[in-house]
Amino acid sequence: MSQLKLEPIKFPGVDLKRPMIIAGPCSAETEEQTLSTARLLAAMGVKVFRAGIWKPRTRPGAFEGVGSIGLPWLKKVKEETGMFIGVEVATAHHVYEAIKHGVDMMWVGARTSANPFAVQEVADALKGVNIPVFVKNPVNPDLELWIGALERINGAGITQLAAIHRGFSTYDKTEFRNHPQWQIPIELHRRIPELPIITDPSHIGGKRELIADISQEAMDLNFDGLIIESHYNPEKAWSDASQQLTPEDLKKVLDALVLRRPSI
Ligand code: PEP
Ligand code: MN
Repeated sequence: MSQLKLEPIKFPGVDLKRPMIIAGPCSAETEEQTLSTARLLAAMGVKVFRAGIWKPRTRPGAFEGVGSIGLPWLKKVKEETGMFIGVEVATAHHVYEAIKHGVDMMWVGARTSANPFAVQEVADALKGVNIPVFVKNPVNPDLELWIGALERINGAGITQLAAIHRGFSTYDKTEFRNHPQWQIPIELHRRIPELPIITDPSHIGGKRELIADISQEAMDLNFDGLIIESHYNPEKAWSDASQQLTPEDLKKVLDALVLRRPSI
């Protein structure tokens, strides 16, 4: 049995009743794109804004994120809209930079959570920091590796911890970019019932058209929230263009969600 020491996630002033919503672009690209997207999301009631600053790309040569120059843009988002801001961290340097710029929450990406050395480096850098940290499932369908990553971050004293279910790589092509394999987060919930789990329909689906159904399925399974990629001009996005929603379309998806009776 996993022995995590957990406390409720807090974004002061935000009511975190289901579903907890985190939204924002896959990547911060320019100050204008970051601020314009954030203003639209804030206007529709989003309270926690995500944007990738350092992007772990499968193959070299793709856009790898703007790096630390994007962090002041996020700070502006926070100052102007009051939203909390979150970034992906994969190295100790990312953690120190994020802290320096007032980032409110961090998440560990799927490629990082598959690597215990990298997770431990992030965990060590987080010692003494008291913010929510979200751990994505590893790219491969390995529940023990996911729990191990959660334990490493928790072992560093991070008690505001949650898991993000973003689906799993398969060699066979399916309609999904990353197969949801719902039984894995369901089993995670069975093993650690007090751990919040949110679903990332953007990286599971890989295409806009699938986001609504995957989000509804996550709600039907009684998961706690959703992290969804949203960009003010998705077709022109520098990463993950086919899966991002305009803030307007995101609102339609969220408004249509039905919170049925819990099934787990
Ligand atoms: C992301 O959230 O943009 C990302 C890179 O996700 P993942 O780690 O799930 O692939
Ligand atoms: Mn992405």
